[in-house]
Order: sequence, then C-alpha cells, then structure tokens
Amino acid sequence: MKPDPAAHTLKRRIVFASANAGKAREIEAMLGSAFEVVLQGDIGIESVEETGTTFAANSLLKAQHAASVSGLPSLADDSGIEVDALQGAPGVYSARYAGEQASDRDNVDKLLRELRAVPDERRGARFRCVLTFMRAPDDPSPLIAEGCWEGRIAHRPSGDGGFGYDPVFVDADSGIMAAELDPAEKNARSHRGKALRKLRELIAADA
Ligand code: IMP
Repeated sequence: MKPDPAAHTLKRRIVFASANAGKAREIEAMLGSAFEVVLQGDIGIESVEETGTTFAANSLLKAQHAASVSGLPSLADDSGIEVDALQGAPGVYSARYAGEQASDRDNVDKLLRELRAVPDERRGARFRCVLTFMRAPDDPSPLIAEGCWEGRIAHRPSGDGGFGYDPVFVDADSGIMAAELDPAEKNARSHRGKALRKLRELIAADA
C-alpha cells in the first residue's frame, strides 16, 4: 500500500527537550504516529541548566526553554532514581551523581559503592518521571503528568538493554532487572511509560 501523504501532514511537530537518546527512543515509541518528535539538539537548541530542586521544576524549565527557543510545542522529561537507604538520593541529581561529566557507568559504580554494606531488605528504590507538555511558548497552563516505578537496587549490574541505572534496578513486581526487559516491557512498567500514558490522555482530552 502506498503511504498516505495526508497522514504525514496531520502529525503534530513537537520538540523533545532532552539530549538523552535512550529517553527519546522510549518517548517516540510510546507517543505513536500522531506526533513528529524532533530532538532539541537536532535543531540547534542547547540544554538548559537544571537549576530546580524538584523533578517538576526541572521538567518545566526544560519545556519552557525548548518551546521559547524553537517556537514549537515542546515536551520535556525530568526523571531520576530515589534510593531509600540514601534518603532519596541521587533524585534530581541522578544524571550527575558521580560528577558533572559522569557516564552512566560512573553513576552506577558510585551507587553500588554507596550501597556496598546495605542488605537486600534495605535496598528499596524508585524511578520517578515528570513530563511537561507546552502547547506553545507562552502556554499558561502546561499539561503535566507524573509516573513512578518501584523496585530495588541489585548488588551487581546485569542485562544490556535500557540506559542509566537500568542494569542495577530490579522491578518490584516481576523481580526482573530493568536492563533485561525489552523496550515494550519496560514501557509497560516504567515511570516514563506511566507518565506518558497519563499525558496522552490529557492531550486527547485537551484536543
Ligand atoms: P535527567 O532527567 O536528564 O536530568 O536525568 C535523569 C537521569 O536519571 C538519567 O541520566 C538516568 O541516569 C536516570 N534515569 C531516568 N530514567 C531512567 C530509566 O528509565 N532508566 C535508568 N535510568 C534512568
């Protein structure tokens, strides 16, 4: 069957305010064909400094920055992992846990070092995600959705899927490592998947 040219023109073009290709893949897969997602870096928009102390504040900062620079609707995600034995750290600092230039591996190594002496029953943790959708740069009431994924931190990394802390995060419901879930299984359980499903409903109700 020939592609329908009209189908393409009906897509809503939005800027995704992140440089994280792992997140972008998950968002694109879940948003479906109604949206054309453009990565902010691909249209020359630099990341804004994440000066907020909450996921909500940083998510809004990123969405406002991408929408005002591009003039397009924007979508931003702020997410991270909270570890009970570390009183909720690294939280909003998850990407920078082992330093400003830290790699995923550096962050995971630091987390495992910090939890070296912590037994299984005190290794509880959760991923959180706040998504913000701005219909326009001057949108006074952005759509905001949150999601949470409960689990615990393993003693050593395992699995080669996902990104970030996935190799050490064990899903509470199934006992499976996040990095061993295929992308569809991860989206069905994850903080970002939950937030995105809520946001899709908000966008549909808003149309
Ligand atoms: P930010 O939202 O870009 O400030 O960074 C979020 C950080 O939290 C990422 O760099 C990861 O380290 C971590 N993170 C967020 N979501 C996930 C996930 O789904 N899996 C693994 N790590 C995640």
